[in-house]
Amino acid sequence: MKNLKFIIAGVFFTLHTLELHAQNEFTIEKKYTQTTKKFLKKSKIKAAFERIALLDPTTLKRHIELTEIEAPPFKEARRAKVFADYFKTLGMDSVWIDTEGNVLGLLQGSEGNRTVALDAHLDTVFPEGTEVKVRIENDTLYAPGIGDDTRGLSMLLTLLETIKTEQIQPKDNLLFVGSVGEEGLGDLRGVKHLFRSGGPSIDAWIAIDGGAIGRVNNKGLGSYRYRITFSGPGGHSWGAFGLANPHHALGQAITNFVQTADAYTRKGPKTSYNVGVISGGTSINSIPFESVMEIDIRSVDPARLEVMESLLEDAVNQALLDQNQRKRRGPELTVKIDKIGNRPSGELSDQLPLVQRTLAATQAFGVTPYLTRGSTNSNIPIAKGIPAVTIGRGGDGGNAHSLDEWWTNKEGHKAIQLALLILLMEAGME
Ligand SMILES: [Zn+2]
Repeated sequence: MKNLKFIIAGVFFTLHTLELHAQNEFTIEKKYTQTTKKFLKKSKIKAAFERIALLDPTTLKRHIELTEIEAPPFKEARRAKVFADYFKTLGMDSVWIDTEGNVLGLLQGSEGNRTVALDAHLDTVFPEGTEVKVRIENDTLYAPGIGDDTRGLSMLLTLLETIKTEQIQPKDNLLFVGSVGEEGLGDLRGVKHLFRSGGPSIDAWIAIDGGAIGRVNNKGLGSYRYRITFSGPGGHSWGAFGLANPHHALGQAITNFVQTADAYTRKGPKTSYNVGVISGGTSINSIPFESVMEIDIRSVDPARLEVMESLLEDAVNQALLDQNQRKRRGPELTVKIDKIGNRPSGELSDQLPLVQRTLAATQAFGVTPYLTRGSTNSNIPIAKGIPAVTIGRGGDGGNAHSLDEWWTNKEGHKAIQLALLILLMEAGME
Protein backbone atom coordinates (compact mmCIF):
# COMPACT_ATOMS: atom_id res chain seq x y z
CA MET A 1 0.00 0.00 0.00
CA LYS A 2 2.83 2.32 0.88
CA ASN A 3 4.48 1.66 -2.45
CA LEU A 4 1.31 2.43 -4.33
CA LYS A 5 0.98 5.76 -2.57
CA PHE A 6 4.52 6.59 -3.50
CA ILE A 7 3.89 5.83 -7.16
CA ILE A 8 0.77 7.97 -7.21
CA ALA A 9 2.62 10.87 -5.61
CA GLY A 10 5.33 10.46 -8.24
CA VAL A 11 2.84 10.67 -11.09
CA PHE A 12 1.31 13.84 -9.73
CA PHE A 13 4.71 15.40 -9.26
CA THR A 14 5.60 14.73 -12.89
CA LEU A 15 2.36 16.17 -14.19
CA HIS A 16 2.81 19.26 -12.07
CA THR A 17 6.34 19.77 -13.35
CA LEU A 18 5.19 19.39 -16.95
CA GLU A 19 2.52 21.98 -16.37
CA LEU A 20 5.10 24.43 -15.04
CA HIS A 21 7.32 23.86 -18.05
CA ALA A 22 4.43 24.28 -20.44
CA GLN A 23 3.81 27.74 -19.05
CA ASN A 24 7.38 28.76 -19.61
CA GLU A 25 7.94 28.39 -23.28
CA PHE A 26 8.22 32.02 -24.19
CA THR A 27 10.62 34.20 -26.10
CA ILE A 28 11.76 37.68 -25.25
CA GLU A 29 11.91 39.87 -28.33
CA LYS A 30 15.27 41.50 -28.97
CA LYS A 31 13.85 45.02 -28.99
CA TYR A 32 12.80 44.67 -25.34
CA THR A 33 16.21 43.41 -24.16
CA GLN A 34 17.73 46.33 -26.05
CA THR A 35 15.38 48.87 -24.46
CA THR A 36 16.22 47.37 -21.07
CA LYS A 37 19.93 47.87 -21.70
CA LYS A 38 19.29 51.45 -22.80
CA PHE A 39 17.32 52.20 -19.65
CA LEU A 40 20.00 50.67 -17.42
CA LYS A 41 22.56 53.04 -18.96
CA LYS A 42 20.54 56.18 -18.16
CA SER A 43 22.19 58.22 -15.42
CA LYS A 44 18.80 58.88 -13.77
CA ILE A 45 18.16 55.16 -13.51
CA LYS A 46 21.63 54.54 -12.07
CA ALA A 47 21.10 57.29 -9.50
CA ALA A 48 17.64 55.93 -8.69
CA PHE A 49 19.04 52.43 -8.10
CA GLU A 50 21.63 53.87 -5.73
CA ARG A 51 18.94 55.85 -3.94
CA ILE A 52 16.83 52.70 -3.48
CA ALA A 53 19.81 50.87 -1.98
CA LEU A 54 20.50 53.84 0.34
CA LEU A 55 16.87 53.92 1.42
CA ASP A 56 17.00 50.27 2.52
CA PRO A 57 16.79 51.03 6.28
CA THR A 58 13.91 53.48 5.65
CA THR A 59 12.05 50.90 3.56
CA LEU A 60 12.46 48.43 6.40
CA LYS A 61 11.34 50.92 9.05
CA ARG A 62 8.11 51.74 7.16
CA HIS A 63 7.61 48.06 6.40
CA ILE A 64 7.59 47.30 10.13
CA GLU A 65 5.47 50.34 10.97
CA LEU A 66 2.77 49.40 8.44
CA THR A 67 2.81 45.71 9.44
CA GLU A 68 2.09 46.71 13.03
CA ILE A 69 -1.10 48.49 12.00
CA GLU A 70 -3.76 45.81 11.73
CA ALA A 71 -5.58 45.58 8.39
CA PRO A 72 -8.17 42.80 8.64
CA PRO A 73 -10.53 42.18 5.70
CA PHE A 74 -13.04 45.07 5.39
CA LYS A 75 -11.16 47.00 8.11
CA GLU A 76 -8.19 48.48 6.30
CA ALA A 77 -9.04 52.12 7.10
CA ARG A 78 -6.47 52.73 9.81
CA ARG A 79 -3.60 51.45 7.73
CA ALA A 80 -4.99 53.24 4.69
CA LYS A 81 -4.87 56.59 6.51
CA VAL A 82 -1.18 56.19 7.46
CA PHE A 83 -0.35 55.01 3.93
CA ALA A 84 -2.16 58.00 2.39
CA ASP A 85 -0.30 60.37 4.74
CA TYR A 86 2.99 58.95 3.46
CA PHE A 87 1.86 59.60 -0.11
CA LYS A 88 1.28 63.23 0.84
CA THR A 89 4.54 63.81 2.71
CA LEU A 90 6.59 62.08 0.01
CA GLY A 91 5.30 64.47 -2.65
CA MET A 92 2.51 62.79 -4.60
CA ASP A 93 0.75 65.32 -6.90
CA SER A 94 -2.65 64.34 -5.58
CA VAL A 95 -3.81 61.83 -2.98
CA TRP A 96 -7.29 60.55 -2.23
CA ILE A 97 -9.13 57.61 -0.70
CA ASP A 98 -11.99 56.41 -2.91
CA THR A 99 -15.42 55.28 -1.72
CA GLU A 100 -14.31 51.64 -1.53
CA GLY A 101 -11.33 52.55 0.70
CA ASN A 102 -8.50 52.31 -1.84
CA VAL A 103 -5.64 54.78 -1.33
CA LEU A 104 -4.75 56.47 -4.61
CA GLY A 105 -1.86 58.75 -5.46
CA LEU A 106 -1.29 60.35 -8.84
CA LEU A 107 2.01 61.50 -10.30
CA GLN A 108 1.35 63.59 -13.37
CA GLY A 109 3.19 62.46 -16.52
CA SER A 110 4.85 64.94 -18.89
CA GLU A 111 2.60 63.71 -21.73
CA GLY A 112 -0.14 62.18 -19.61
CA ASN A 113 -1.80 60.30 -22.47
CA ARG A 114 -1.83 57.03 -20.57
CA THR A 115 -1.96 55.96 -16.95
CA VAL A 116 0.18 53.16 -15.55
CA ALA A 117 -0.93 51.85 -12.16
CA LEU A 118 1.34 50.31 -9.53
CA ASP A 119 -0.47 48.36 -6.83
CA ALA A 120 0.06 46.62 -3.50
CA HIS A 121 -2.80 45.50 -1.27
CA LEU A 122 -3.52 46.97 2.15
CA ASP A 123 -5.48 44.07 3.62
CA THR A 124 -4.25 40.91 5.29
CA VAL A 125 -6.14 37.65 5.87
CA PHE A 126 -5.90 38.00 9.65
CA PRO A 127 -8.92 38.84 11.82
CA GLU A 128 -9.10 41.78 14.18
CA GLY A 129 -7.14 41.27 17.40
CA THR A 130 -4.34 39.22 15.80
CA GLU A 131 -0.95 40.02 17.36
CA VAL A 132 0.89 41.95 14.65
CA LYS A 133 4.00 43.05 16.55
CA VAL A 134 7.04 42.30 14.39
CA ARG A 135 9.57 39.94 15.95
CA ILE A 136 13.09 40.23 14.55
CA GLU A 137 15.56 37.37 14.68
CA ASN A 138 18.88 38.08 12.97
CA ASP A 139 17.77 39.44 9.58
CA THR A 140 14.38 37.73 9.53
CA LEU A 141 11.13 39.52 10.36
CA TYR A 142 8.21 37.53 11.74
CA ALA A 143 4.63 38.86 11.75
CA PRO A 144 1.29 38.10 10.12
CA GLY A 145 1.17 39.96 6.81
CA ILE A 146 4.88 40.86 6.81
CA GLY A 147 5.37 39.54 3.28
CA ASP A 148 1.81 39.43 1.96
CA ASP A 149 1.57 42.21 1.16
CA THR A 150 2.99 44.81 3.53
CA ARG A 151 6.42 44.58 1.95
CA GLY A 152 4.71 45.63 -1.28
CA LEU A 153 3.26 48.73 0.40
CA SER A 154 6.61 49.85 1.72
CA MET A 155 8.15 49.24 -1.73
CA LEU A 156 5.61 51.67 -3.22
CA LEU A 157 6.70 54.37 -0.74
CA THR A 158 10.38 53.90 -1.56
CA LEU A 159 9.57 54.05 -5.29
CA LEU A 160 7.69 57.30 -4.81
CA GLU A 161 10.46 58.81 -2.70
CA THR A 162 13.06 57.79 -5.27
CA ILE A 163 11.13 59.22 -8.22
CA LYS A 164 10.69 62.53 -6.39
CA THR A 165 14.22 62.81 -4.97
CA GLU A 166 15.90 61.91 -8.25
CA GLN A 167 13.49 64.16 -10.16
CA ILE A 168 12.47 61.45 -12.58
CA GLN A 169 9.79 62.63 -14.99
CA PRO A 170 7.65 59.84 -16.41
CA LYS A 171 5.83 60.46 -19.69
CA ASP A 172 2.62 58.65 -18.70
CA ASN A 173 0.74 59.35 -15.51
CA LEU A 174 1.61 57.05 -12.62
CA LEU A 175 -1.20 55.93 -10.35
CA PHE A 176 0.00 54.43 -7.07
CA VAL A 177 -2.60 52.19 -5.45
CA GLY A 178 -2.91 50.77 -1.95
CA SER A 179 -5.89 48.52 -2.60
CA VAL A 180 -8.44 47.06 -0.19
CA GLY A 181 -10.05 43.62 -0.22
CA GLU A 182 -7.58 41.50 -2.16
CA GLU A 183 -7.75 38.56 0.21
CA GLY A 184 -10.45 35.96 0.80
CA LEU A 185 -13.98 37.26 1.02
CA GLY A 186 -12.70 40.73 0.13
CA ASP A 187 -13.02 39.13 -3.32
CA LEU A 188 -10.86 41.77 -5.05
CA ARG A 189 -13.39 44.45 -4.13
CA GLY A 190 -10.80 47.25 -4.28
CA VAL A 191 -9.56 46.48 -7.75
CA LYS A 192 -13.08 45.66 -8.98
CA HIS A 193 -14.11 49.13 -7.87
CA LEU A 194 -11.20 50.73 -9.73
CA PHE A 195 -12.04 48.93 -12.97
CA ARG A 196 -15.80 49.55 -12.72
CA SER A 197 -17.38 51.34 -15.64
CA GLY A 198 -16.87 55.04 -15.02
CA GLY A 199 -13.78 54.38 -12.89
CA PRO A 200 -10.42 56.08 -13.46
CA SER A 201 -8.85 55.19 -16.79
CA ILE A 202 -5.96 52.75 -16.33
CA ASP A 203 -4.00 51.54 -19.34
CA ALA A 204 -1.55 49.19 -17.64
CA TRP A 205 -1.49 47.57 -14.22
CA ILE A 206 1.49 46.32 -12.25
CA ALA A 207 0.73 44.58 -8.95
CA ILE A 208 3.39 43.68 -6.41
CA ASP A 209 2.22 40.68 -4.42
CA GLY A 210 4.09 37.70 -3.03
CA GLY A 211 7.05 35.76 -4.30
CA ALA A 212 10.67 36.37 -5.13
CA ILE A 213 12.07 38.22 -8.11
CA GLY A 214 11.35 36.22 -11.25
CA ARG A 215 7.62 35.80 -10.96
CA VAL A 216 5.73 37.30 -13.88
CA ASN A 217 2.04 36.56 -13.46
CA ASN A 218 0.13 37.18 -16.69
CA LYS A 219 -2.76 34.77 -16.20
CA GLY A 220 -5.65 34.89 -13.79
CA LEU A 221 -6.92 31.76 -12.08
CA GLY A 222 -10.66 32.30 -11.83
CA SER A 223 -12.78 31.14 -8.94
CA TYR A 224 -16.41 31.14 -7.92
CA ARG A 225 -17.35 30.70 -4.29
CA TYR A 226 -20.71 29.85 -2.79
CA ARG A 227 -22.43 29.66 0.57
CA ILE A 228 -25.38 27.28 0.43
CA THR A 229 -27.93 27.29 3.24
CA PHE A 230 -30.70 24.72 3.68
CA SER A 231 -33.32 25.89 6.20
CA GLY A 232 -36.25 24.18 7.89
CA PRO A 233 -38.31 24.38 11.08
CA GLY A 234 -36.02 22.19 13.21
CA GLY A 235 -37.25 20.22 16.22
CA HIS A 236 -36.78 17.28 18.59
CA SER A 237 -35.10 14.25 17.03
CA TRP A 238 -37.74 11.90 18.45
CA GLY A 239 -40.72 14.12 19.14
CA ALA A 240 -40.61 15.92 15.78
CA PHE A 241 -39.32 13.01 13.75
CA GLY A 242 -40.50 13.23 10.17
CA LEU A 243 -39.68 16.90 9.70
CA ALA A 244 -37.41 17.54 6.72
CA ASN A 245 -33.79 17.67 7.90
CA PRO A 246 -31.48 20.35 6.40
CA HIS A 247 -28.32 18.30 7.12
CA HIS A 248 -29.73 15.35 5.20
CA ALA A 249 -30.40 17.64 2.25
CA LEU A 250 -26.92 19.14 2.45
CA GLY A 251 -25.31 15.71 2.55
CA GLN A 252 -27.27 14.65 -0.47
CA ALA A 253 -26.43 17.85 -2.32
CA ILE A 254 -22.72 17.15 -1.78
CA THR A 255 -23.09 13.58 -3.04
CA ASN A 256 -25.02 14.74 -6.13
CA PHE A 257 -22.53 17.50 -6.88
CA VAL A 258 -19.39 15.44 -6.37
CA GLN A 259 -20.74 12.79 -8.74
CA THR A 260 -21.34 15.13 -11.68
CA ALA A 261 -18.43 17.48 -10.91
CA ASP A 262 -16.01 14.58 -10.72
CA ALA A 263 -17.04 13.30 -14.15
CA TYR A 264 -16.86 16.78 -15.67
CA THR A 265 -13.45 17.76 -14.25
CA ARG A 266 -11.63 14.58 -15.23
CA LYS A 267 -11.27 15.90 -18.77
CA GLY A 268 -10.48 19.30 -20.25
CA PRO A 269 -8.72 22.38 -18.85
CA LYS A 270 -7.95 22.07 -15.12
CA THR A 271 -10.95 22.74 -12.93
CA SER A 272 -11.23 22.08 -9.19
CA TYR A 273 -13.99 22.00 -6.58
CA ASN A 274 -13.90 21.87 -2.82
CA VAL A 275 -16.48 21.85 -0.05
CA GLY A 276 -14.36 23.64 2.53
CA VAL A 277 -16.72 24.47 5.40
CA ILE A 278 -19.81 22.73 6.78
CA SER A 279 -21.72 24.16 9.71
CA GLY A 280 -25.09 24.20 11.45
CA GLY A 281 -26.97 22.20 14.01
CA THR A 282 -27.34 22.64 17.76
CA SER A 283 -27.25 19.18 19.35
CA ILE A 284 -27.22 15.50 18.52
CA ASN A 285 -30.87 15.09 19.43
CA SER A 286 -32.20 18.13 17.55
CA ILE A 287 -33.24 18.26 13.93
CA PRO A 288 -31.22 21.30 12.80
CA PHE A 289 -33.01 24.38 11.48
CA GLU A 290 -30.08 25.21 9.26
CA SER A 291 -27.27 23.50 7.37
CA VAL A 292 -24.58 25.50 5.63
CA MET A 293 -21.66 24.75 3.36
CA GLU A 294 -19.06 26.85 1.58
CA ILE A 295 -17.68 25.73 -1.75
CA ASP A 296 -14.73 26.95 -3.80
CA ILE A 297 -14.59 26.22 -7.53
CA ARG A 298 -11.62 27.18 -9.70
CA SER A 299 -10.79 26.90 -13.37
CA VAL A 300 -8.32 28.21 -15.87
CA ASP A 301 -11.25 28.52 -18.29
CA PRO A 302 -14.11 30.96 -17.55
CA ALA A 303 -16.67 28.87 -19.48
CA ARG A 304 -16.01 25.88 -17.23
CA LEU A 305 -16.78 27.94 -14.14
CA GLU A 306 -20.23 28.55 -15.61
CA VAL A 307 -20.77 24.84 -16.24
CA MET A 308 -19.66 23.99 -12.69
CA GLU A 309 -22.10 26.56 -11.36
CA SER A 310 -25.01 24.90 -13.15
CA LEU A 311 -23.89 21.45 -11.96
CA LEU A 312 -23.89 22.78 -8.41
CA GLU A 313 -27.33 24.37 -8.76
CA ASP A 314 -28.78 21.16 -10.21
CA ALA A 315 -27.25 19.07 -7.41
CA VAL A 316 -28.64 21.38 -4.72
CA ASN A 317 -32.12 21.66 -6.23
CA GLN A 318 -32.36 17.91 -6.74
CA ALA A 319 -31.38 17.30 -3.09
CA LEU A 320 -34.01 19.81 -1.94
CA LEU A 321 -36.68 18.08 -4.01
CA ASP A 322 -35.75 14.61 -2.76
CA GLN A 323 -35.66 15.56 0.89
CA ASN A 324 -38.95 17.43 0.66
CA GLN A 325 -40.54 14.33 -0.88
CA ARG A 326 -39.14 12.26 1.98
CA LYS A 327 -40.59 14.38 4.81
CA ARG A 328 -43.58 12.98 6.73
CA ARG A 329 -44.76 16.18 8.33
CA GLY A 330 -44.21 19.92 8.62
CA PRO A 331 -43.23 22.62 6.12
CA GLU A 332 -40.85 22.19 3.22
CA LEU A 333 -37.14 22.92 3.39
CA THR A 334 -35.88 25.95 1.51
CA VAL A 335 -32.44 26.60 0.10
CA LYS A 336 -30.46 29.75 -0.56
CA ILE A 337 -27.44 29.82 -2.87
CA ASP A 338 -25.24 32.87 -2.27
CA LYS A 339 -22.36 33.54 -4.60
CA ILE A 340 -19.81 34.94 -2.16
CA GLY A 341 -16.80 35.04 -4.46
CA ASN A 342 -16.24 35.78 -8.12
CA ARG A 343 -12.72 36.11 -9.43
CA PRO A 344 -12.61 36.04 -13.20
CA SER A 345 -9.99 34.05 -15.07
CA GLY A 346 -8.18 35.10 -18.19
CA GLU A 347 -4.86 35.14 -19.96
CA LEU A 348 -2.69 37.79 -21.51
CA SER A 349 -0.33 36.95 -24.34
CA ASP A 350 3.33 36.78 -23.36
CA GLN A 351 3.99 38.89 -26.45
CA LEU A 352 2.21 41.88 -24.91
CA PRO A 353 4.63 44.83 -24.48
CA LEU A 354 4.09 45.05 -20.68
CA VAL A 355 4.75 41.32 -20.27
CA GLN A 356 7.77 41.49 -22.59
CA ARG A 357 9.19 44.46 -20.70
CA THR A 358 8.71 42.67 -17.40
CA LEU A 359 10.40 39.52 -18.69
CA ALA A 360 13.31 41.47 -20.22
CA ALA A 361 13.82 43.63 -17.12
CA THR A 362 13.74 40.57 -14.86
CA GLN A 363 16.31 38.82 -17.00
CA ALA A 364 18.57 41.88 -16.81
CA PHE A 365 18.64 41.34 -13.03
CA GLY A 366 20.29 37.97 -13.60
CA VAL A 367 17.16 36.03 -12.76
CA THR A 368 15.37 33.61 -15.08
CA PRO A 369 11.80 34.89 -15.30
CA TYR A 370 8.86 32.49 -15.22
CA LEU A 371 5.25 33.07 -16.19
CA THR A 372 2.58 32.15 -13.66
CA ARG A 373 -1.17 31.88 -13.28
CA GLY A 374 -2.47 33.22 -10.02
CA SER A 375 -5.35 34.64 -8.09
CA THR A 376 -4.32 38.26 -7.51
CA ASN A 377 -5.59 41.78 -8.11
CA SER A 378 -4.38 41.44 -11.71
CA ASN A 379 -7.23 38.97 -12.40
CA ILE A 380 -9.57 41.90 -12.95
CA PRO A 381 -7.60 43.84 -15.60
CA ILE A 382 -6.47 40.54 -17.19
CA ALA A 383 -10.09 39.44 -17.58
CA LYS A 384 -10.84 42.80 -19.21
CA GLY A 385 -7.89 42.44 -21.59
CA ILE A 386 -6.02 45.35 -20.00
CA PRO A 387 -2.24 44.77 -19.83
CA ALA A 388 -1.39 43.61 -16.31
CA VAL A 389 1.27 41.67 -14.46
CA THR A 390 1.88 40.69 -10.87
CA ILE A 391 5.52 40.70 -9.83
CA GLY A 392 7.26 39.49 -6.69
CA ARG A 393 7.99 41.50 -3.54
CA GLY A 394 11.51 40.14 -3.44
CA GLY A 395 13.65 39.10 -0.52
CA ASP A 396 12.98 35.70 0.93
CA GLY A 397 9.77 34.72 2.65
CA GLY A 398 7.33 32.02 3.61
CA ASN A 399 4.30 30.86 5.59
CA ALA A 400 2.04 33.48 4.00
CA HIS A 401 -1.50 33.49 5.48
CA SER A 402 -0.21 31.90 8.71
CA LEU A 403 0.66 33.44 12.07
CA ASP A 404 4.35 32.59 11.68
CA GLU A 405 4.72 34.35 8.34
CA TRP A 406 8.31 35.53 7.82
CA TRP A 407 10.32 37.67 5.45
CA THR A 408 14.09 38.07 5.19
CA ASN A 409 15.72 41.13 3.73
CA LYS A 410 17.85 39.17 1.33
CA GLU A 411 18.70 41.83 -1.25
CA GLY A 412 15.18 43.16 -0.81
CA HIS A 413 16.13 46.41 -2.54
CA LYS A 414 16.62 44.58 -5.84
CA ALA A 415 12.90 43.92 -6.19
CA ILE A 416 12.29 47.66 -5.76
CA GLN A 417 14.87 48.52 -8.42
CA LEU A 418 13.28 45.99 -10.75
CA ALA A 419 9.79 47.39 -10.10
CA LEU A 420 11.08 50.89 -10.92
CA LEU A 421 12.66 49.68 -14.15
CA ILE A 422 9.46 47.94 -15.29
CA LEU A 423 7.34 50.92 -14.29
CA LEU A 424 9.48 53.43 -16.18
CA MET A 425 9.90 51.23 -19.25
CA GLU A 426 6.12 50.96 -19.40
CA ALA A 427 5.42 54.64 -18.69
CA GLY A 428 8.41 56.07 -20.54
CA MET A 429 10.60 58.80 -19.08
CA GLU A 430 12.07 62.13 -20.15
ZN1 LIG B 1 -1.31 39.05 -1.37
